[in-house]
Amino acid sequence: MTEQQANIPVLARSGHSGHCTRCLTGLPFSLVTVDSSKLPLIFYCLGSLDLLGTLDTATKESERESWRNDIWGLHAGGAWGSGFKPSWYMTGSDTKNDPQRTYETEFDTPHMIVTYTALLTLAILRDDFARLDRRGLVTFLRSSQREDGSFTSDPTGGDADLRLTYCAFVICALLNDWSGVDVEKALGFVRRCRTYEGGYGSAPGCEAQGGPTYLAMAIFRLTSDSPNFLNAVERRQTLRWLLQNQDCSGGFRGRTNKDADACYCFWCGGAIQILGATELVDNVALASFLGNCQFRFGGIAKAPGEHADPYHTYLSLAAISIFPPSESAGGGSWAIEPLDTLINAKSSTAQWAKDHIPSKSM
Ligand SMILES: [Zn+2]
Repeated sequence: MTEQQANIPVLARSGHSGHCTRCLTGLPFSLVTVDSSKLPLIFYCLGSLDLLGTLDTATKESERESWRNDIWGLHAGGAWGSGFKPSWYMTGSDTKNDPQRTYETEFDTPHMIVTYTALLTLAILRDDFARLDRRGLVTFLRSSQREDGSFTSDPTGGDADLRLTYCAFVICALLNDWSGVDVEKALGFVRRCRTYEGGYGSAPGCEAQGGPTYLAMAIFRLTSDSPNFLNAVERRQTLRWLLQNQDCSGGFRGRTNKDADACYCFWCGGAIQILGATELVDNVALASFLGNCQFRFGGIAKAPGEHADPYHTYLSLAAISIFPPSESAGGGSWAIEPLDTLINAKSSTAQWAKDHIPSKSM
């Protein structure tokens, strides 16, 4: 799309900030049925405020302190190491006196995705990580890797797809310690997720999707000194598949023959950036699509006309950070804080985590 053709709506920064602030304060802690979804929701709300640069003005220090303490309330440990569990209501207190049922196996097991999310949310909140059990975290990673190289969501089982491998690798990167994982075995699992289209499925044999393709690119790059972690033929095929997912609306779709969806602007766009080909994306068309996904009362929806939610708001802002439209195309209101695409957090937040997570010698 040329700059003359572009008619980019203004990015409603204060509206999006307000949407995320409302979603944060509208989370009743008595809502037990969605208890395990609260932390991701908090992450997407706070992450959006972080990318917009409004976290300090939209929230109070007393609230941030309270959220930090809430998240540490999820810290759990046992025979399989330590990490963060999905829910405040998951407690082993009823089983502690039953010799047949150890509390770690029943309720208090750390969860890989929750642990990744908790670490990044604590970094957004500028926690000092003094309460982190570094050694327990490495044990948890080791306990969660399977024979085929994949990781399970917790040491007792559960899902085993690319999301878990990605979270395990980011945790290693934040710890600057890879001793808890068999990297080569894990990379073998990721390579088996590649499909004939050049994208990656969430597990071997699954259809190529934007999300797992981003995860695969990030996983490869986190352990590679060079951006050339795919051979030339593979790189061309993967890029071609990713780029043809930017459809005529300007947005990206997540799978062949699907409609564009705001979250895939990040999942596909992030993968393209990791492959070093940002110049091949039409930034103006992308901003035009995301501008039309803005909900009139704040927040960004998955598609024009849909209701907004923190997940699509955060990932849209992350995509805009990678592909900002030029000022001359009307993108003056679209400046977003720089993103660490591999970690999927604001660059200074990812750096905070790396700087403050206790070092190996402690
Ligand atoms: Zn979506």
